[in-house]
Amino acid sequence: MTHVDCLSRVRSTCSDSAGRTVYLTFDDGPNPLCTPEILDVLEKHGVPATFFVIGAYVAEHPQLIRRMIAEGHEVANHTMTHPDLSRCGPSDVHDEILEANRVISMACPQASVRHVRAPYGIWTEEVLSASAGAGLAPLHWSVDPRDWSRPGADAIVDAVLASVQPGAVVLLHDGCPPDECRPGTEDSLRDQTVIALARLIPALRERGFGICSLPQLP
Ligand SMILES: [Zn+2]
Repeated sequence: MTHVDCLSRVRSTCSDSAGRTVYLTFDDGPNPLCTPEILDVLEKHGVPATFFVIGAYVAEHPQLIRRMIAEGHEVANHTMTHPDLSRCGPSDVHDEILEANRVISMACPQASVRHVRAPYGIWTEEVLSASAGAGLAPLHWSVDPRDWSRPGADAIVDAVLASVQPGAVVLLHDGCPPDECRPGTEDSLRDQTVIALARLIPALRERGFGICSLPQLP
């Protein structure tokens, strides 16, 4: 079973019975600089989002998980250390997912973790079976403006608006994976994402989209 075959079994959109609904997801946090800024923008506009968090960062910044939950957002599993899971053995895949669930629960016992997203969107048979074993629904994305590459806030907004459809799952980033963070450089900053988000929410609403929490996936 190839990665592409496995990806075909993972949802990248959500059914849209409510009409023109889109879903915002943020990967690779929590980050002490960026995540509060993202949360401020979401709060200002009254918009819910789902944060696919890295367990190692959760352990460092548990208060950000508590803030996410207190403000009505969903916290989801993006593994403990963000490895390419296709290069991990079955027990490591299992541990990466279960450990992340454990630290999220420790940070915020009220957090109900329902979803998992594989780092880099690399889905394998092992990842799908470990996810199912942990009671987590795998979720990919359908709109990727590549905000992590810092293309400029306007480019991020334009890329989302160009491809968004009802039921779309939008991928954004409020942090940077451990092996890609180079302190002191701009690479790991997500300031463009913050600026883009503040423009994107009104732009989506002008186009008739509602921004909602993820539904329960089967
Ligand atoms: Zn990631």
